[in-house]
Amino acid sequence: IIVLGIETSCDETAAAVIKNGRDILSNVVASQIESHKRFGGVVPEIASRHHVEQITLVIEEALAKAEIAIEDVDAIAVTEGPGLVGALLIGVNAAKALAFAHGIPLVGVHHIAGHIYANRLVTEMKFPLLSLVVSGGHTELVYMQEHGSFEVIGETRDDAAGEAYDKVARTLSLPYPGGPHIDRMAHEGEATIDLPRAWLEPDSYDFSFSGLKSAVINTIHNAKQRGETIEPVNLAASFQSSVVDVLVTKTMRAAEEYDVKQVLLAGGVAANKGLRARLEQAFQEKPDIELVIPPLSLCTDNAAMIAAAGTIAFQKGKRSDLALNANPGLDLSC
Ligand code: ATP
Ligand code: MG
Ligand code: FE
Repeated sequence: IIVLGIETSCDETAAAVIKNGRDILSNVVASQIESHKRFGGVVPEIASRHHVEQITLVIEEALAKAEIAIEDVDAIAVTEGPGLVGALLIGVNAAKALAFAHGIPLVGVHHIAGHIYANRLVTEMKFPLLSLVVSGGHTELVYMQEHGSFEVIGETRDDAAGEAYDKVARTLSLPYPGGPHIDRMAHEGEATIDLPRAWLEPDSYDFSFSGLKSAVINTIHNAKQRGETIEPVNLAASFQSSVVDVLVTKTMRAAEEYDVKQVLLAGGVAANKGLRARLEQAFQEKPDIELVIPPLSLCTDNAAMIAAAGTIAFQKGKRSDLALNANPGLDLSC
């Protein structure tokens, strides 16, 4: 079966065509990063306008690259939430218009289900599994007993991991999005600065990054007042070490407690080289648990992942009607 995926939840206008839930026939992403950079973050109004300008072109390009006509599409999967409401609406309305005009079934998809299902474009999913979702807006440990079943066993109580990266990057005057810059600097420096790790209650799988972010800001501030210099690369390395320590330790503990077969990494922060390396290292000692890390292009926002999640939902019988609406606060389910 052939599914067209559409994603406009944030600052990427994306469309993709995938076959049988696994094979990517096309995967087109129009990024708006250049437009948002000078504001230091995503400006919702600008994002919506770009989506309006891009959406038709991006969908046409995805169909053309896949060498199929819209009539060959068996289902249209679209991100219905969470995300920026004005941005989501563009994708949802484009999907509804195409579904209505061509009589194609429509399936609304949760953006985070999409991030998790990016892994299915790489390998078969083996249940039960655990997914560490680390993105610009989410940091979650999601337990899956079977396809389409999502149990959030831990989540951030304040900032998401990506958000913490971007905020720390901003205090170091790095361009948006700051995650990749901090990652690069972390590899040039050494974790010589003592920063906190928020373990929370001993049995908790929740996360907290705002204390760490404040500690970084205070470190810079205090050094300035004392006239001391701090090597930004060492600060980046220390920050990254704290984030990765907590993410890897909690993921390992949850994987063991829930006795999972696979651990899937998902979300934009999954592009982080430090996180990838530390996870690989940690799971080398656990050969009975398979660690899956998608390629970078499938970790950040794209529509292939939405089509992948949408294919499973469609096969499980999910259909959205033309009353489908953007839902910025959508709960994770399939
Ligand atoms: P959500 O998926 O929660 O709605 P989003 O879609 O905005 O949020 P993604 O596109 O999945 O988030 O990820 C973007 C985030 O990933 C940004 O915060 C960015 O800084 C971060 N990021 C990207 N590459 C890296 C990296 N190498 N190291 C750390 N963070 C990174
Ligand atoms: Mg993005
Ligand atoms: Fe995302």
